[in-house]
Amino acid sequence: MIIAVDGPTASGKGTISKALAAHYGLPLLDTGLLYRAVGRQVALNGGNADNAADALSGCAFPDSLLDDPILRDEASGGLASRVSVHPGVRAALNKRQVDFANQPGGAVLDGRDIGTVIAPHADVKLFVTASAKIRAERRFLEMQRRGLDVDFETILADIRARDERDTGRADAPLKPAKDAHLLDTGNLTIGAAVQAAIAAVEASLRRS
Ligand code: C5P
Repeated sequence: MIIAVDGPTASGKGTISKALAAHYGLPLLDTGLLYRAVGRQVALNGGNADNAADALSGCAFPDSLLDDPILRDEASGGLASRVSVHPGVRAALNKRQVDFANQPGGAVLDGRDIGTVIAPHADVKLFVTASAKIRAERRFLEMQRRGLDVDFETILADIRARDERDTGRADAPLKPAKDAHLLDTGNLTIGAAVQAAIAAVEASLRRS
């Protein structure tokens, strides 16, 4: 079974994907991490994430970079969203994701274009959303818990800018697949969101 989980940043899709992978015993690929590694590699190379050639050379990152905790920070997320607009970068990362999706036994992949581009044949497609304000509140609290000195308005502006880049790009923009199940996590606890996701998977499986 292939489960595609797409949605904007801080929508809860990462948590939901992890829970689904554990529940169904499937391997998980967080595809955002690949784009984050490209962005980080571009910065390490001294390149410019907005430049297509610089961004493409970042695709030659070593796999060990995927374990670097720096990829989780806001700066890496911003760089990822900038390199991800370049079609060459998306093409370079395509095979790795498609192969992961099509491995025997199936997989869970989370990202922006899994249900639309990487695995349009997925058995189950979820599109996880929440308003920009709620997502910014979640990110704000999470960063405060980590002891970081953060400003809510800056986080909200950053999330809006990322949404705009992700939904506005010409190649593989963030949008729900036609047959995706929409899951708004805005008013749900983590536990309730996971239960709703499992229920959506079960419903999709019953239909197929
Ligand atoms: O999901 P995450 O926040 O780690 O993704 C970082 C950025 O990588 C996103 O804002 C998006 O621009 C890009 N991305 C993408 N396609 C994916 C996954 C992530 O364009 N499948």
